[in-house]
Order: sequence, then structure tokens, then C-alpha cells
Amino acid sequence: MNFNIEKLVRRNILTLVPYQSARKLGGSKKTWLWLNANEFPFSTPFKLSTLKMNRYPECQPKLLVERYANYTNLYPSQIVATRGADEAIELIMKIFCDPGKDFILFCPPTYGMYKVSAETIGIDYKIVPTINNWQLNIPEISKNLVNVKVIYICNPNNPTGSLFNLKDIYHLLEITAGKSILVIDEAYIEFCMKATLVKLLNDYNHLIILRTLSKAFALAGLRCGFILTNKKIIDLLLKVITPYPLAIPVSDIATQALSKNNIILMRNNVKQLNSNREWLLQKLKKCDCVEKVFLSESNYILVKFRDSLKVFKKLWNQGIILRDQSKILGLSQCVRISIGTSKECEHVISALKNLSLE
Ligand SMILES: *Cc1c(COP(=O)(O)O)cnc(C)c1O
Repeated sequence: MNFNIEKLVRRNILTLVPYQSARKLGGSKKTWLWLNANEFPFSTPFKLSTLKMNRYPECQPKLLVERYANYTNLYPSQIVATRGADEAIELIMKIFCDPGKDFILFCPPTYGMYKVSAETIGIDYKIVPTINNWQLNIPEISKNLVNVKVIYICNPNNPTGSLFNLKDIYHLLEITAGKSILVIDEAYIEFCMKATLVKLLNDYNHLIILRTLSKAFALAGLRCGFILTNKKIIDLLLKVITPYPLAIPVSDIATQALSKNNIILMRNNVKQLNSNREWLLQKLKKCDCVEKVFLSESNYILVKFRDSLKVFKKLWNQGIILRDQSKILGLSQCVRISIGTSKECEHVISALKNLSLE
């Protein structure tokens, strides 16, 4: 029988452009320098403490949640553990947005999954591009709040590496109170800890903060993230989350990563990476092929080149995989470089210097 599956598929899925994850974009076996996914450049030494898996896991492993509460100075009742921050992004839409009626809003250039998740569920979105050095356009956001249920702000922002002005975030919190949920995605906050907005959770009951173990904790392969908010929103999240979001090995390793000693280890690793970032920043500024280097508070640097495609391809052919951003609105000639080990940073600079000699 001649059967056309496309007749059954939701229209938004037929037209969906999926997230271009760094892993999908690839790099070959001989690739040895992964600087395209903002992963931590080396792995941390954890071992599974159990191999018993005949029982389902706890939905919200108690010790894991307690340790994250400790780490953030919150109550366990203010925390939900998720299958990465990506699951959290989607859970929030599922709770607050009616497909075909409500909107989410985000401010590009920013993380790509807000749009992809909305399109997958069938939720419309409004876009208010950033202005003046990647800052929020508050008047324009304010004009566009009708039917906007959730606003996603990534702070520090990916891929720009910049922080939003605190004054603007306060302003945004004021104009959204009672109308929309404000989600602050703090996936990279460990690289600039003083910018965290966790303290504001006490004052604003429409604020949600997202966290992950994928970046500073060096556990991107684990798939573990956290939602921080107030108990009322937590109860809603626990209604819609899958019964067993975290596999037993995931909560096992995540709980170890959040021990007192391992948090100290993470902080030291972050210091090292931040100093590599400053080194790379200074060197990049002196490369002939570079037009502009954007200051970063995170574990990546956005760089504008004179010919970004050439840089991207030449380095790719040498096994150095960067993230091309040039097709994104406002980012022509831009490439994002994740901060690697000191050696990896040196390789990037010497590859760029050779390129200038051609
Ligand atoms: C990497 C990243 C995430 C995804 O985190 P996971 O926990 O790995 O799903 C979320 N938000 C931003 C801004 C990111 O860069």
C-alpha cells in the first residue's frame, strides 16, 4: 500500500529546523580539538557506586536535591532536577503556554533551544533582538508582552559571552510581574558566579533560574540540570515531569559531583579556564585575521574575523573544530571558540597565526 507518513505528521514538525548540536555537525575521527560545544576540556574522575538497576530510580533523588540546595543556599523544596537544562526549557513551556494561543519571547543572538522547543511543541514566539553591545531592548520587550507567558534570558548569554545589565533585569522583573514568567538561564554562571540572580528568587514569584552540570562541572555527557524557583512553581513542574527523569547512574555521579570537595575542585577548574580565557583573549586581539574580540564572562569567546568562513574551514581541516555563527542574525563573520586547556588555546593561536602568513 502506498502510505504517505507526512499526512499524519503535525505541520510544525514537517517545517521544524532541528537544533544543530555540535555533535551532529561533527568533525571526523582525526578531529582532536573540540572547541565547538562549550564543553569542559577534560573529564573529572567519578566512579559509579552501584550497578544495581532492577528498580526504578527516585523521581527526585533526595541527596542530590539536598546537595544542590546546599550549593545554591536554597531549600530543597525550591529545586527540581532535570535531564539537562534542555528538558527544563521545555517543561516550563508545557506548564505555561497554550499552543496556538500563548507566546514565548527571547532576545537573539541567544541560545537556540528556546526557539526549537517552542516550534516542537507548537508555541509561537516573539523575538526582540538585543541592542547596544548585546543588551536588552526593554522598551521593545515592554511593547511586545501581550500573550507572552514566558521570557527566556540567557545570562551570561550564549554565544556572545556577555552579561545583561542588572538594572535592565530588574526592570524586566518589574514589567513582567503578574503577566509572564521570567526564566534566567544560568548554564554558564559558575564562570562569573557573582552575577547569579538566585538571591532574587525570594523577592519575585515569577522568576525561574536554570542550571546545569554540563558546563563548569564538566559533565555534559551525564545529562543533568536543575530548575530553581519557588515551591508553587516546583509543584507544577513535578506534575508534568516524566516519572523517572534521572537514570540511577546519572544521579549517582551528579551527587558525587556536588560533594563539598568536588565543588572546590570545580571552582579551581573554573579559575584555570578563566585564566586561559584571558590569555586567549589577549592573543586573539593581536591576530591579523581578527577584526573584533568580544569580552566574555563565560567559557567561550565570540570573535569577529575578516573572513570567518576561511578561518572556520582552515582550522576544521587541521582538526580544530570551532562553532560557526556567521549565519545568525547580527553575527556575520563571527565564530565562537570554546575555552580549552592551555595547550589547546595555544594550538588555536598558532593555527590563526599561520593563516595570517598565507
Ligand atoms: C549548554 C546549554 C544548555 C543545555 O544544558 P544541558 O544541561 O546540557 O541540557 C542550556 N542553556 C544554555 C544557554 C546552554 O548553553
